[in-house]
Amino acid sequence: MARKNGFVIAIDGPAGSGKSTISRIAAEKLNYLYVDTGAMYRALTWKALCEKLDLTDEKSLVKLAKRTSIKLKKDGKVFVDDIDVTTEIRNPEVTKNVSYIANVPEVRECMVALQREMGKEGGVVLEGRDIGTIVFPDADRKIYLDAEVGERIRRRYEELKEKGYRVRIDEVEEELRLRDEKDKGRKVAPLRVADGAVVIDTTHMNIDEVVETILRHVGQG
Ligand code: C5P
Repeated sequence: MARKNGFVIAIDGPAGSGKSTISRIAAEKLNYLYVDTGAMYRALTWKALCEKLDLTDEKSLVKLAKRTSIKLKKDGKVFVDDIDVTTEIRNPEVTKNVSYIANVPEVRECMVALQREMGKEGGVVLEGRDIGTIVFPDADRKIYLDAEVGERIRRRYEELKEKGYRVRIDEVEEELRLRDEKDKGRKVAPLRVADGAVVIDTTHMNIDEVVETILRHVGQG
């Protein structure tokens, strides 16, 4: 589909599949906008925790989504009502609670509307769980990144350690398995391979190899 600024590239996959790093680099190489949709659900979760909202009260979460401004900047920074929350949204407390927010259909509708707005002119790499299935089923290129669960746990553990969090690998394993289960098993917009998506197993690939594979696929008509 011809769009003003280029393709819409949809990248989906589970936690630890390398999605964020790879999508960011691929977008840079293509000179495309990078939209980390997980950051949007995390941003709302961060605010809900700050306000000590009842995370099982869907109505109040929908209100929260409607009264909150979320901005994703070109440099990767994330703002909630003009507060820079780039670092905070990655903390384990947010990660543990994000499914409450991501499970609410009306919250998702708000986020999906923003994501479609950001992507509509093309020239964009959107990354998440439902990009190729729900947000842009007509994306020009669809990719599903995956990796064996043990490797995904290892990556997540290394990432948290590097950021200075003191976590145990068994805690990381529990969090990741639980989140996989919730993301794949939920009623609304479950994580699955979109029709027409190319599946890349990154277990034994390094970042450069995955980026190259994606760029090759993007370059093909
Ligand atoms: O990608 P990331 O791990 O930052 O996403 C955090 C969480 O946000 C996911 O586990 C999922 O529950 C939710 N999410 C979603 N739909 C997306 C992106 C993320 O439900 N498009």
